[in-house]
Amino acid sequence: MSKNRYDLDPERLATTDEHGNRVYLHPEDVKGRWKDRRKVVYWGLILLYLVLPWFYINGKPALLIDLVRREFTVLGFTLHGMEPILFFLMLASGLFFIAFVTSLFGRVWCGWGCPQTVFIQAIFLQVERLIEGKARQREQLEASPWSIEKISKRSLKWAVYLLISLHIAHTFIGYFVGPRELFLITLGSPGLHPTMFAATMVATLIILLDFGWFREQFCLIACPYGRIQSVMMDENSLVVAYDAKRGEPRRGITERAAEGDCVNCYNCVKVCPTGIDIRRGTQLECIACTQCIDACDDIMTKLKKPTGLIRYSSETELSGGIRRLLTPRSVVYFVASLVFVSSFVLFFRNSTHLDIVLLRGQGSPFQVSSDSLVTNHFVVRLKHQGGREFAIELQSQDPDIRVTQPISPWKVQKSEVKNIVFFRFEAKHLMNGSRVIRINLFDHLSQSVVATKEVHLVGPVE
Ligand code: SF4
Ligand code: SF4
Repeated sequence: MSKNRYDLDPERLATTDEHGNRVYLHPEDVKGRWKDRRKVVYWGLILLYLVLPWFYINGKPALLIDLVRREFTVLGFTLHGMEPILFFLMLASGLFFIAFVTSLFGRVWCGWGCPQTVFIQAIFLQVERLIEGKARQREQLEASPWSIEKISKRSLKWAVYLLISLHIAHTFIGYFVGPRELFLITLGSPGLHPTMFAATMVATLIILLDFGWFREQFCLIACPYGRIQSVMMDENSLVVAYDAKRGEPRRGITERAAEGDCVNCYNCVKVCPTGIDIRRGTQLECIACTQCIDACDDIMTKLKKPTGLIRYSSETELSGGIRRLLTPRSVVYFVASLVFVSSFVLFFRNSTHLDIVLLRGQGSPFQVSSDSLVTNHFVVRLKHQGGREFAIELQSQDPDIRVTQPISPWKVQKSEVKNIVFFRFEAKHLMNGSRVIRINLFDHLSQSVVATKEVHLVGPVE
């Protein structure tokens, strides 16, 4: 019996040939209930991604990661200059939550929510199908020598890919600079914003090459989540699986009378975006996209057999047991996530961290008054994100320098407070016209120093 080309070599990846070179996959299209559901989810996520930065809540973008000002805005609430401990707690709670979801539902993120899957399946593959045809036609085009037809189809495809990538990259940058700024930057010349222009072009290039060409290779060799997800799963985790008990022995390897339900049509392999044969068991390359479920259900329906030969299941269920929704592993992940979230809220509410920025006042950097005192004038910006209140007075650690703040003490709550402060001193306390001093932020409510800050003072050179 001649070997079917979809009968994969177990010794190597489906995406490499016997010499280790990449085999470019052309997964066949599939129709079915899972495809319909995924379409709804994919387009919902794409729309959310595209419109989210344009929505304003409380006068702020719905999501903004301002790296320059170290501010993170989500749904109208802004976190200012996050303390390392808060950042760690947020990261840890997120990681344990992902581990918890993975332990229950396997790679549901990969198949349903990952931008890699969403954009490739919903947009890039559809563009490819529209321009180059179905899987078989795409394969033939790839194998054919360069011709006018091939050049025009490939050029058109990559031109459309480029336009889409530009749009995705601009939206991505919008999450960091805000939509209004993005709009103005986009209208202006690249020379006015060279860094932003370079960042957008690099993002466009990465998206173009990844979604247009690299595709499943990212999931197979580069994605860190794909590498570690097997550690988070156990025999009760939900996976896309082939029911070998029902399917085997598959058609063609035994007497017809003793055959299982699998007719060995390879449709599950033909539609797989990572090129694997799910009948060989759960594999690291499976991104749980459900394409093979639809492909097999279609065959079973035509054969008037029950669907679900490939389905969402677990190892326990497939071996005849009852799947436990919660296992010790998932409970540990959930509790750990809960502990970190609670710690985050606790630290956040009781945080004493004050973010202080001193900006030199406009005009001359110093003034000399009639009593020969030198004055430096600053605008002070104080920010606090926790639940505490402060009544702040600035105090110099240096007895030679007097600090005057017109409003004293300053009441600081969650939001930002801006005020003016004056430093007065005799010119003889400067060295070569400057001096660096430290100031204390004294809180009258807790009667303690809650922060210190360095200030660079200037004056006449004597
Ligand atoms: S085996 Fe099935 S679920 Fe897994 S990646 Fe392939 S088609 Fe998707
Ligand atoms: S699609 Fe179903 S019947 Fe066809 S080879 Fe795969 S498991 Fe067997």
